[in-house]
Amino acid sequence: MTKSWLADLIFPFLFDFYKDSENLLNKRFFFPQSIYRPFISVEEQNEWVAQSGDVSIKNFVENIFLSSAFGLVANDPFGGIVIKQSGYVNVKLFMQRVSGLLMEKHSYREEYFDFKKLETGSDKIIYQDLEATNIIFCDGFRATENPFFNWLPIRPLKGETLSVFAKEIPDIIFNRGVYLAPTGRENSYVIGATYQPGTTNEGITSEARVELEEKVAKLIKMPFEIDHQYWGIRPTTPDRRPILGSHPRYKNVIIFNGLGTKGVSLAPYFSNVLMGWMKGEIEIPKEVNIERFKALYSGSSSV
Ligand SMILES: Cc1cc2nc3c(=O)[nH]c(=O)nc-3n(C[C@H](O)[C@H](O)[C@H](O)COP(=O)(O)OP(=O)(O)OC[C@H]3O[C@@H](n4cnc5c(N)ncnc54)[C@H](O)[C@@H]3O)c2cc1C
Repeated sequence: MTKSWLADLIFPFLFDFYKDSENLLNKRFFFPQSIYRPFISVEEQNEWVAQSGDVSIKNFVENIFLSSAFGLVANDPFGGIVIKQSGYVNVKLFMQRVSGLLMEKHSYREEYFDFKKLETGSDKIIYQDLEATNIIFCDGFRATENPFFNWLPIRPLKGETLSVFAKEIPDIIFNRGVYLAPTGRENSYVIGATYQPGTTNEGITSEARVELEEKVAKLIKMPFEIDHQYWGIRPTTPDRRPILGSHPRYKNVIIFNGLGTKGVSLAPYFSNVLMGWMKGEIEIPKEVNIERFKALYSGSSSV
C-alpha cells in the first residue's frame, strides 16, 4: 500500500461518503475547497514544478503559481501550489446529525462504557440489556485504558484549534505550518492545529493560542478576531496507519482506531474496509491490520 495508492483510494471515497451523508442527514457540513500552500523559496518552487508531472501527484495539483497569487491577503512572494481533492468537514455538526438519526432509530446511547459490565462469549457479546454478535471499539486514545486493547501502541497527541472571524479572505484553504480554512459560514474560519505530544491534560491553553496566532500571522496578512478555542486528543500509531481487526483471543471483539491526524479523511474508506471484512468479503490490508502488532500482545498482562 503505497502513499499515492492510499491517497487515490481514500480521497475519491470520502467525497462520495460526505456528499451522500449530507443528503441522508439533510444538512450541509462538507465544504470541498482547494488548498493554497505558499512556497518559501525559489528552490521549493523548482522542486514542485519538477514533481508536478509525477503521476502520483498530478491528480492532486490544480495550479502552480511562480509569483504571488494572493499577495493582498497572504505572504506568498514565491507563489505557491494549489492542491485539489481537499476540503473542510464540520465534524461537530456531522456527529450531531449522525447521533440524532441513530437516536430516532433507538440505536444510540451516550454514557460511560463500563468494561466490567461486558460479557464476551465466542458467539455473542452481552452488555447490560444489549446482546450482539460483535463489538467494535472506536474509543480513540482511551484505548490505552481499554483492557482488551491497552497493549497496542496508541499514543495520544493533543491538538488545539481556533475559530475566528475575518474579512475579505478568498474562498480557499491557506496552509503553511498552520491552516486557515473557511467554514462555510460568512466571515468564519478555523485555524489549526497544534501538536502537543506527551500530554492528555484536558482543556485549552494560552501557549497553543499564542502559537497558532504567531504562525497564522506569518501566513496571512489580514486581521482576525478569535471567537473560540477548541482542544482534542488524536490517537496516533508509530507507523501512522490505522488499526483494524480482532482481538487476538476474542474474535468478536474488534477495534477501529489509530486514525491519527487524519481521521476525517481515513475513516470513510477504512470503516468500509472493516465492514467488508466483517461480512467475509475482503481481507484487511496488512498495513492497517492489528496483526502487525500481535507480538506486543501478552495474554497475561491484558484480557
Ligand atoms: C486538534 C485536532 C485536529 C484535527 N485535524 C484533523 C485534520 O486536519 N484532518 C483530519 O482528517 N482529522 C483531523 N482530526 C481528527 C483526528 O485525525 C482523529 O483521527 C480523530 O479525532 C479520531 O477519531 P476517533 O473517532 O477514532 O477517536 P475520538 O475522536 O477520540 O473519539 C473516541 C470517542 O470515544 C469516547 N470514549 C472513549 N472511551 C469511552 C468509554 N469508556 N465510554 C464512553 N465513551 C468513550 C470518547 O469520549 C470519544 O468521544 C483532528 C483532531 C484534533 C483533536
